[in-house]
Amino acid sequence: MSEFVNIYKIDDNSLKNAKYYVTHNMLVAFPTETVYGLGCNALSDEAVKAVYAAKGRPSDNPLIVHLPTDCSYEDYVFDNPMAGDLRQAFLPGPLTLVYKSKNVVSPLVSCGLDTLAIRVPAHEGAQRFLRYVGIPIAAPSANVSKHVSPVTAMHVYRDFGSSIPMILDGGRCEGGIESTVLDVTGDVPVILRKGLVTAEMVKKVVGACVYAGDGSELSKRSPGTKYRHYCPKTETKLFERSQVNGALALYDDCVESGKTALIMCDSSVAKDISDKNVFDLGESGNVMANRLYYGLHEGEKYDLLIGIKFDVDDEVKLGVENRFLKAFG
Ligand code: AMP
Ligand code: MG
Repeated sequence: MSEFVNIYKIDDNSLKNAKYYVTHNMLVAFPTETVYGLGCNALSDEAVKAVYAAKGRPSDNPLIVHLPTDCSYEDYVFDNPMAGDLRQAFLPGPLTLVYKSKNVVSPLVSCGLDTLAIRVPAHEGAQRFLRYVGIPIAAPSANVSKHVSPVTAMHVYRDFGSSIPMILDGGRCEGGIESTVLDVTGDVPVILRKGLVTAEMVKKVVGACVYAGDGSELSKRSPGTKYRHYCPKTETKLFERSQVNGALALYDDCVESGKTALIMCDSSVAKDISDKNVFDLGESGNVMANRLYYGLHEGEKYDLLIGIKFDVDDEVKLGVENRFLKAFG
């Protein structure tokens, strides 16, 4: 018996149903310009619990609240001029700001922290959804915990099937990796999760910005970053950029034994091995971000996914590399 497919184009009819679901504390997956989100009513403990349960997400990994462009931040958080300048420069867009919370949404959203992360996505479908439902939507990425984040509606469907009532389809996500998470509660903004908005870009607007190093004291402000993430459901093997011959030997062994393999690498390697199954991540950080999760999902169609490391010569690649290394953990 075929399962009911719960993927819907975004129109007035699907939005009306989406509003019914989220106001009744059920979950709706929706597209953003970064990855798909699994949305729930941020005001309801019951709805937030349902998101953690559906994902199998650790209960100390807080969620981001998604708001429409015409929202009032003061309703939810204590604002400050630096945050205002950053919003002016980057929002709507792939930047999440962490503020001191006014504790208006369910305390389960921030896992008991005194802060709240807010994001205003640029994706037109996300904005239509957020405006239409008219309540703050808490949303983690719409994948089962630890799995690769989804960048198409079908990726969401493969993780959740029809166990959630609705997946809104807004096409393939352009950005391709999760938002930059930036803590603006202190004098100097701190990047807790790397993404498409880089420290350099933030510095140009407010004069300063630092990265919280992985495992550092600062990184503890973002509990989610300590967990393993982004794992494809297939065997993986990682090689240094200088070990391409080793990767090719493994690929050949795999094919000779009757199995299938895919090599994921940047264009500088891909151009020389086009006779193999290759997923070319591209050259620039932005293109690599757009392709990374899509490629990891493609890799699941093979018995073995071989990764080849790449040079980090632009800042966006820091965020791509972080996820790439976790995926090949
Ligand atoms: P995901 O929902 O999978 O995109 O993950 C959300 C990310 O935002 C995680 O890395 C969380 O640690 C981070 N985050 C959410 N809320 C907060 C907060 N209040 N303070 C710091 N980091 C947060
Ligand atoms: Mg996630």
